[in-house]
Amino acid sequence: MKLKILEMGDTRAKILLTGARPSLANALRRTLTADLPKMAIEDVEFHLGPISDEKGKTYESITPLFDEIIAHRLGLLPIPTDIELFSYRDKCESCSGEGCPNCTILYNINKKGPCTIYSEDLQLVTQKIKGIKSKKYEDKFKIKDRSIPIMKLGKGQALLVYATAILGTGKEHAKWKVAHGVGYKYYPIIDIDNEKCDRCESCIESCPLGILKLARGKITAKNIEDCTLCKACVDACERKAIEVEGDESKILFQFETDGSWSAKAALKYALTILENKFTEFGKAVSKLK
Ligand SMILES: [Zn+2]
Repeated sequence: MKLKILEMGDTRAKILLTGARPSLANALRRTLTADLPKMAIEDVEFHLGPISDEKGKTYESITPLFDEIIAHRLGLLPIPTDIELFSYRDKCESCSGEGCPNCTILYNINKKGPCTIYSEDLQLVTQKIKGIKSKKYEDKFKIKDRSIPIMKLGKGQALLVYATAILGTGKEHAKWKVAHGVGYKYYPIIDIDNEKCDRCESCIESCPLGILKLARGKITAKNIEDCTLCKACVDACERKAIEVEGDESKILFQFETDGSWSAKAALKYALTILENKFTEFGKAVSKLK
């Protein structure tokens, strides 16, 4: 299998797999969505009772949303993940699963209404980990997407919570899912017979993605990779001058991450997971008599 990067953004990637079967592309899809570890908020502790500000004004810890809904929304925030620094809480050697800076990140929210609470209001409580200074820790683990709305607080209302993020995988819960919109298709081949074509342009009108155009008296295709192989143009052409099919030797693969991982790091780590799985599988098979 050969892998060519067609597009690599912070959270978006498009790659071309040559010499791969759909089963392999599907294995990569499943690894990206289900096996990649990610930090997400698992426990949320709510302060109950009155909350006072610096001036002595008292607010009620009442919010328009149920605590469960707030906890769920916090769980879905994309917490930046560095797999080199953290271990799974239940496998953590430093704390045996009780929670420590090697397996958890602790955040808090302390806001008083009226206001809207955004992801940027999540403040880091944990400040350091072995090998990383406080400032760097903050840069690394503050949520990058700062304007995700969580909820609105009314007058006299306040929210004080402590939220603990731990590592998990998409297999356990959707909040630990790193990659979204993971899809693949055969590379499109659009074959236009300009001898048969009478330039009626019905194919151009039928294409929902505007891939076909008339240039210098000929129908041509641009941005072929966008073609979804819907074949609306084939159906629209009465003269059967256009053929669309997928190239079975090439697979276009694309995905996005939620921002907890960069697209490049996610792809690299997913390929490592796959490689390890296949190696283990190979070893297990070779042991069979
Ligand atoms: Zn720990």
